[in-house]
Amino acid sequence: MMQNSPVNQQEGARRVVVLSGPSGSGKTTLVRRLLQEAPVRLVKAVSATTRQPRPTEKPGDDYYFLTDAEFRRRLRDGEFVEHAEVFGSGFLYGTLRSELERAWKDAGWAFLEIDVQGALKVMQQYPEAVTIFLRASSPQEFERRLRKRGTEAEGLLQKRLAAAAEELKLADRYQHVVVNDELEQAVREICAILKAEEYRRNAG
Ligand code: 5GP
Repeated sequence: MMQNSPVNQQEGARRVVVLSGPSGSGKTTLVRRLLQEAPVRLVKAVSATTRQPRPTEKPGDDYYFLTDAEFRRRLRDGEFVEHAEVFGSGFLYGTLRSELERAWKDAGWAFLEIDVQGALKVMQQYPEAVTIFLRASSPQEFERRLRKRGTEAEGLLQKRLAAAAEELKLADRYQHVVVNDELEQAVREICAILKAEEYRRNAG
């Protein structure tokens, strides 16, 4: 059995995984699989947002749905680790510090599924965070998937495509870039990354 030194315990106590990638690329399914199957303890940091819940979403589970005023009050009170207005949607999204603490208290990795703007801020605050960028093999493949999903009006779809192209420019700021064309392969790759990171930290 590997023993943790006090230093490693300290580092281990602040374990953070950041996953970003354009929405509509199968990210939701992938995240669900990772939360179920990862070889390390992942605790999803539930984000706060000012957008409306979708019919299938549960408050406190998928997001904390806040009014604009409540979101801004919490922001002023310093409750957020990061926040961003995502792809010009006009809606705010943010990670509450209390969510990270909840994960760590639970001896887990805080798992953040956030956009690139938020991810860059988290990288500054937690340089030891494991960062993963999910991408399609090509812009054409990404567009094909987004159209197949068929949930977006053309205008919004164009907006998402433009946002995805912008996000892709920042992919090299992440430690790992994983191609998400094939779900099983992506799950396996990310599980291997997490296992290696857990091992590295425990081994000191
Ligand atoms: P959706 O509205 O489709 O659930 O999410 C839209 C985008 O918001 C996703 O790309 C997701 O990564 C991003 N997002 C979700 N939660 C957060 C958060 O707490 N902070 C930031 N910066 N982005 C978030």
